[in-house]
Amino acid sequence: MKKVIILILVLGLLTGVGRVLLTLPAVQDALLVRGTAAVAEGVGAAFSESTSLRVYVCGSASPLGMGQAQACIAVVTPEHFYLIDSGAGSTDNINRLGLPTERLQGLLLTHFHSDHIAEIYEVNLGSWIGGRPAPLTVYGPRGVDEVTNAVNAGYRLDRVYRTGHHGADLLPPALGVLEHKMISPGVILEDGDLKITAYVSEHPPIHPAVGYRFDYRGRSVVVSGDSNVSGDTLKIVDGADLLLHDALSLPTVTALSEAMGAAGRSRTSKIVADVIDYHASTDSLIELGEKSDVDMVAFYHLVPVPLNSVLEDIFMRGVPDNFVLTEDLMRFELPIGSDKIVVNRP
Ligand SMILES: [Zn+2]
Ligand SMILES: [Zn+2]
Repeated sequence: MKKVIILILVLGLLTGVGRVLLTLPAVQDALLVRGTAAVAEGVGAAFSESTSLRVYVCGSASPLGMGQAQACIAVVTPEHFYLIDSGAGSTDNINRLGLPTERLQGLLLTHFHSDHIAEIYEVNLGSWIGGRPAPLTVYGPRGVDEVTNAVNAGYRLDRVYRTGHHGADLLPPALGVLEHKMISPGVILEDGDLKITAYVSEHPPIHPAVGYRFDYRGRSVVVSGDSNVSGDTLKIVDGADLLLHDALSLPTVTALSEAMGAAGRSRTSKIVADVIDYHASTDSLIELGEKSDVDMVAFYHLVPVPLNSVLEDIFMRGVPDNFVLTEDLMRFELPIGSDKIVVNRP
């Protein structure tokens, strides 16, 4: 007993001495040098390449985000890098994941709700600074020209400032201006072994809204954007390995709307109730899993993001084993020549 008391006293003393040392400028400066060196090595480290088709969750949330970034998914192969949507907070996650922004080839927008487009310019800026060798193209349905032109116009001065400050050699002005391409449902891009197909999503009254399917060397992933489950969803997921789908927990959203109403917050109550009809409920996705042969269904664009394990259990009520709930910074690896899907949590 005596030994334990002595041990506790010694540890307390060492902790106290450590705290005092950390207040000394010389110790702080030495830690600063070591810390910044570690950061610089991390930034300079090459993105770990893999032959797999890889999918990264840069934003798992809806506007009911609760601390997670809004909609953004990255699809990466050894030769390709595309982002699907760029909601608020997604650029930070792109950086934390260490994604190779210098080789970003396109930003595919599903539709133009703010939780999908808030960081278009941040994605553009990050990849411009990262050394992207060509202008970034924004793909999207009708309206993509209006959105892209507005972003270019709104941030014109930012681009002027940055090129003026860092020089045109480092930040060529032409590479800071977004380009756009309006797409229609069907195959929108074939680049080597990668094929990207757009399909119509059901998100009334927003029209057109689309989702995207990526096929790469026998592996495939579908990213829904915002949508109910429709006949088009069933068709596009046919034979797909992985479906990332917008998901709404009906018990949670209903309870939230009713609670807002009971608390006299009728405006919020109505807005929360309104979202029910244009996002896929978890039950409708379970039904999709039964009717289709998709291997794995991952819920993202969570309405709302579950804040604790009880809400997670409610969100995942009744789902089969091949369903997962995503969170920011989650990664999926689909090795070529295999039917495996490796799920990595942060
Ligand atoms: Zn939407
Ligand atoms: Zn949304």
